[in-house]
Amino acid sequence: MSDTGDVASDDSVAIVGAGPAGLWAAFQLGLHGVAATVIEAAARSGGQCAALYADKPVYDVPGFREALAGDIAERLLAQTEPFSQTFLYDCRVDAILRGEAEFRLLLADGRQISSSFVILATGLGLFGGEGRMQLALPEGARDPEGAICVTPSTFETECPGLYAIGDAALYPGKLPLIVSACHEAALAAFAIKKAVSGLSRLAPEFSSTSTRMRKRVTGE
Ligand SMILES: Cc1cc2nc3c(=O)[nH]c(=O)nc-3n(C[C@H](O)[C@H](O)[C@H](O)COP(=O)(O)OP(=O)(O)OC[C@H]3O[C@@H](n4cnc5c(N)ncnc54)[C@H](O)[C@@H]3O)c2cc1C
Repeated sequence: MSDTGDVASDDSVAIVGAGPAGLWAAFQLGLHGVAATVIEAAARSGGQCAALYADKPVYDVPGFREALAGDIAERLLAQTEPFSQTFLYDCRVDAILRGEAEFRLLLADGRQISSSFVILATGLGLFGGEGRMQLALPEGARDPEGAICVTPSTFETECPGLYAIGDAALYPGKLPLIVSACHEAALAAFAIKKAVSGLSRLAPEFSSTSTRMRKRVTGE
């Protein structure tokens, strides 16, 4: 942390919330070679899976006939490890302000984080409810429950550079499932990668055949 109180100030991505959506966004950005700072109000990652039903078996996650919700949360965190993304726990984001060139995230403890892109992966808010986060969004960009309207091809909100995924995101047909959160995280990460690259078109890559993705994950 600098003596100005900032904990980060660069071109990276701030992800608010370390539930399944935020964790998979951190993974996907890492796969694309984009650094992220994940800011979580709780003392640990996993969101609802860890906090509300960790010991319950889940049957609808691809590749697992049955998995405990707590184990899914731990595996999602472990999958981000190769990329050395930054995780800040016990850090509640109280407001997100849009500056001329970047967002400023105001933390409950008085610190600030600046970032070019923000992904909101806040579920439907804080467990125990500490009031709603202030967001630089126009009137009508949230529904009465607090979910945020997004474009379902990129998961960008009405505020350019601000994305919302997982249970926080609202679009026609939205299903509040772990698998949906992962799909949304992948599309938001790809949209940010495209914006960072400055290219109007970006070809999708497969992790199984891309040598640079393999190197980012395995180091080889
Ligand atoms: C009992 C139960 C059973 C379920 N069973 C299934 C199932 O079988 N299959 C399935 O696919 N889905 C299931 N779900 C739904 C699934 O858990 C959610 O869809 C998923 O957790 C959404 O992930 P998320 O990351 O969007 O949000 P969350 O899991 O809610 O995570 C959001 C995170 O953001 C953090 N946060 C919020 N606000 C702030 C802030 N201002 N600053 C910093 N951090 C913040 C929270 O602390 C939290 O950790 C179930 C849900 C429940 C409650």
